[in-house]
Amino acid sequence: MKKRHKISLIPGDGIGPEIMEATLRVLEATGLEIQWEEVWVGEEAKKRSGHPFPNDSLKVLKKNRVALKGPLIVHKGSEPVMMRHGRERLYHPSINSALRRELGCFANVRPIKSFPGLPTRYPPIDIVIVREVTEDLYSGLERQVGDGVAEAIKVTTRKACERITNFAFQYARDNGRKKVTLGHKANVLSLTDGLFLESAGMIAKEYPEIRFDDLMIDALCFQMVKDPTAFDILLLSNQYGDILSDLCAGLVGSLGLAPGGNVGKEYSFFEASHGAAPDIAGKGIANPLALILSASLMLNHLGETDLSQKIENGVAQLLQERKVLTPDLEGSSTTDQVTSELIRILSH
Ligand code: NAD
Repeated sequence: MKKRHKISLIPGDGIGPEIMEATLRVLEATGLEIQWEEVWVGEEAKKRSGHPFPNDSLKVLKKNRVALKGPLIVHKGSEPVMMRHGRERLYHPSINSALRRELGCFANVRPIKSFPGLPTRYPPIDIVIVREVTEDLYSGLERQVGDGVAEAIKVTTRKACERITNFAFQYARDNGRKKVTLGHKANVLSLTDGLFLESAGMIAKEYPEIRFDDLMIDALCFQMVKDPTAFDILLLSNQYGDILSDLCAGLVGSLGLAPGGNVGKEYSFFEASHGAAPDIAGKGIANPLALILSASLMLNHLGETDLSQKIENGVAQLLQERKVLTPDLEGSSTTDQVTSELIRILSH
């Protein structure tokens, strides 16, 4: 009997609902049976319930264990998200951090691959960013300490460093990857980044078949634009991973091609690397492929490996043909047209 999946759905803000609709069309066309349960978080949840992350939404996300998520708007200078757990209060710097941390999704995995046929300024790359997303400078510990003075605390724990390093090496082992490179700034941040470097070096010894090296984050950026083919898996703390994700997306040609997943022990959710793109929202020209590729990662996670590969191959063919592309890829087609073309390719 065919398995039916129950998955939470967060449509998102800005271009979120447009690219989500496209993604759902593609998933439906594969014939996979999915029962979606819509969950409100962020702006929409605030409008409906007064809180950006109501406990009821968290409960549904936990019940279904897996979610597909559109991008959420986080306004500059917005308040942290406060969650109550009994007497305890937890502050998260943004709704995206709140989702990751409340669901224990400690690893943000972002595979970034060049697609043949698509012209880019750089040689073909195939890099996976493994980003720690529970601590670092995005711990929600930021405050005003006086007039004209503010501080943010960068939190690094051995436990989180070891956990994410193990995850990166296990990912390398499971996916035939050969090297893990840690990006850090341990020469300046000797206690925090120094701890990450030390912990990662210890864990790396447990995976002798996979090479481990490290680079200062500034040198890493330099190397990324000089010869990005030198990298395989990038192991990064929260903020460096955030920045390098967009850099890598630029190397392959568009933010619209950078998918991702947030993974923890019990729960996971999948989302594109890019944001809500308010500058093009409502125009029908957003590239849906990053979210579609994120859905493909989700299918892989659910054990639907053939379908996952089929979607990835379909996207590769669409990009190779270069007939129906959105403007970010120098095409002139709409989100709808790209979606229909992908569905046509998948049905052959
Ligand atoms: P962004 O990624 O939304 O947009 C950056 C640029 O890339 C814009 O020019 C945009 O038009 C373009 N772009 C992004 N996705 C695209 C797509 N699928 N197709 C075509 N073009 C695309 O980054 P931003 O402008 O810095 O952020 C906008 C909002 O999104 C902010 O509120 C930010 O906080 C939020 N954001 C959310 C997430 C998330 O939910 N995970 C991630 C990043 C940013």
